[in-house]
Amino acid sequence: MQISVIGLGYLGAVHAASMAKLGHDVVGVDVDADRVDALAAGKAPFFEPGLDELLTEVTGTGRLTVSTDLADVAAAQVHFVCVGTPQRTDGQAADLTAVDAAFSDLVEHLAHGAVVVGKSTVPVGTAQRLADQMAAARPDALLAWNPEFLREGFAVQDTLRPDRLVYGVADGAAGERATAALDGVYAALLADGVPRIVADYPTAELVKVAANSFLATKISFINAMAELCEAAGGDVARLADAIGYDARIGRRFLNAGLGFGGGCLPKDIRAFRARAEELGAGDAVAFLGEVDAINTRRRARMVDLAVEVLGGMVESAEVTVLGAAFKPDSDDVRDSPALDVAARLAELGAVVTVHDPQAIDNARAKQPHLHYERDLEAALAGADALLVLTEWEQYRELDPERAGTLVAQRTVLDGRNALSRSAWTAAGWQYRALGRR
Ligand code: NAD
Repeated sequence: MQISVIGLGYLGAVHAASMAKLGHDVVGVDVDADRVDALAAGKAPFFEPGLDELLTEVTGTGRLTVSTDLADVAAAQVHFVCVGTPQRTDGQAADLTAVDAAFSDLVEHLAHGAVVVGKSTVPVGTAQRLADQMAAARPDALLAWNPEFLREGFAVQDTLRPDRLVYGVADGAAGERATAALDGVYAALLADGVPRIVADYPTAELVKVAANSFLATKISFINAMAELCEAAGGDVARLADAIGYDARIGRRFLNAGLGFGGGCLPKDIRAFRARAEELGAGDAVAFLGEVDAINTRRRARMVDLAVEVLGGMVESAEVTVLGAAFKPDSDDVRDSPALDVAARLAELGAVVTVHDPQAIDNARAKQPHLHYERDLEAALAGADALLVLTEWEQYRELDPERAGTLVAQRTVLDGRNALSRSAWTAAGWQYRALGRR
């Protein structure tokens, strides 16, 4: 099929490349010329495992082209809108400027009977509003909402083998036509047995924010238990193992630590609350305010712990922070807990050196005053305290004996409960972690 993808960020670039991999002819459009130039050269404009290889493969076939000119999408039968929906600068709600701009520009370029598919995460009610606007300008065109559940770090595999496909469509014949178009796009995935749920617009929009709210709540739940463990002298890692054996609870997403960040969970739960308030249903998701507060408290607690192990003498202390990305296997530093803690310690006067295998350039752009070191051993050299704040594999595998020969003080704060406490203490380190004695 002829497909367009509008917005080539963490979601759109992977979607465009994956749709080309499925055999479609894809044109990707972004307003960011640097992103487009990188993609035109077959290079990922950000770090995502497997994306470079996929781009090389699909650009070689000629099935993926990219452009900054929206007019180039005119031949497409199906258009995926993947632009950003960040938090508004003046409040908690989602900023829909990019979505509204993309839709109003796109309407000018639609072929007869084209299907426009929203993938961005939007407040419930957005799809119906956009469908009404489109119907007024282009009654022949159709709108569907197809929320995306990919995880950064696993984005390629999540797109090519998703857990499920969700379509939000209009009632009646228009909805059936939109469903048929999406079935055509995803034919290979459906043939592979990927479950497909067809719903109305509000349900499809709510599925996405409900899923993210549930995941955020699960993380904050175990972090709340970590607070209790800290108060009562318990061990949250043991507690998580024990409750996780209950299949109704499950062990995944029960790792206590520095909490969630990134370009999705924090802004999505805030936007959900804001939208629920507008709908007069704010009480139903008021608990998400507490989920957010628990999450934010973990960052403050990590800073306090660092101050404590430095004996209160933060001024000029050498602190090494391992990790700047909001999660491993990504270079995304949007609302990164690790970078937030690093910046707060620098504000308190510490000399903070940050290492990350992929996110240094993005981190430097956000927090230029911190020191960055690309070599791990050089980053460890002379540290009075070592903070492991993003659980990259190479940090999990650090040899505490070797690391101990590089630092000034064998003090490690394990912000992700990712290290072996026994191995680090056996190597003479003072080991501290959130929610553990
Ligand atoms: P992003 O900021 O990485 O990418 C957005 C892209 O859209 C940017 O490259 C930007 O230049 C481009 N853009 C903005 N306005 C445009 C316009 N008018 N025309 C063309 N391009 C335009 O954001 P992202 O992480 O890819 O997220 C995009 C959406 O997908 C958001 O709604 C997000 O919540 C949702 N989402 C993201 C993920 C994820 O893991 N990143 C997962 C699921 C859903």
